[in-house]
Amino acid sequence: MTSAGRFAPSPSGELHVGNLRTAILAWLFAKGSGRDFLLRVEDLDRARSGAEAVQLRDLAAVGVRWDAAVVRQTDRVTLYADAIAQLTAQDRTYECFCTRREIQEAPSAPHSPQGAYPGTCRRLSHAEREIRRATRPAAIRLMADVTEWAVEDQLHGQYRGVVDDFVLRRNDGVTAYNLAVVVDDAAQGIDQVVRGDDLLPSTPRQAYLATLLGLPVPEYAHVPLVVNHDGARLAKRDGAVTLGDLAAVGVSADAVRDLLLGSLGLPAGSLESALPFFEPAKLPRDPWVWKNPVPEMPAR
Ligand SMILES: [Zn+2]
Repeated sequence: MTSAGRFAPSPSGELHVGNLRTAILAWLFAKGSGRDFLLRVEDLDRARSGAEAVQLRDLAAVGVRWDAAVVRQTDRVTLYADAIAQLTAQDRTYECFCTRREIQEAPSAPHSPQGAYPGTCRRLSHAEREIRRATRPAAIRLMADVTEWAVEDQLHGQYRGVVDDFVLRRNDGVTAYNLAVVVDDAAQGIDQVVRGDDLLPSTPRQAYLATLLGLPVPEYAHVPLVVNHDGARLAKRDGAVTLGDLAAVGVSADAVRDLLLGSLGLPAGSLESALPFFEPAKLPRDPWVWKNPVPEMPAR
């Protein structure tokens, strides 16, 4: 089995400098630890036609290279179905008919954390399920036997977080992110997950699920995000933040790459030439504030 790190974008639009910075970090972590670097397109949901090609082009333009053919989640739905079948065979799943509103309005179970699914449909009788199936397609939930789980993170240390009866397959038939990501990482031999720290809270669920499926838990590094001048997560409305926008105002992909390397305390140039200087322990731990390199350019 290979040892690999990865970047896994959703093709919902163009990557912005925050996404590109995370991709560069994932590449540096992988190569700095002697791993392959893989790319996975997470296109189960919100995929926009043509977005994948632009994302791959932009990753290549800032010097990110990957070591095997790109994998797409839509090609792997039987793997996800197999994993859900495995859990169902262990009596670890149940059908949930709740609407979003019913979940919000349900009294939460004693000792259950804020926002956790209250377990309403765990207790349905066979007859009640028959009735509800006639009016609404079911989502599939995991029957969790823990309420929290701990993971080790290279930057955050031990992180303990909520595990509830989270959704494995949505009621529109689409595999939930938490299941797909666990199945894919294991199937691709990914043993190092580097991604934005907004995903740290869902990591205990994923590590717990991997354990239930008998899959190895990867090592994790959740890296700081790029934010705008108000401290909010960078978004398209923050002006020229994609390579396309920046090229239009005269900032080349090489210049963007050098800005991003500089934000990590690394010398300008190629990713390969920056690699010997990369030390995970010395990474800045605070979000990086994006400043428009062409200040007269108005925000959209
Ligand atoms: Zn329910």
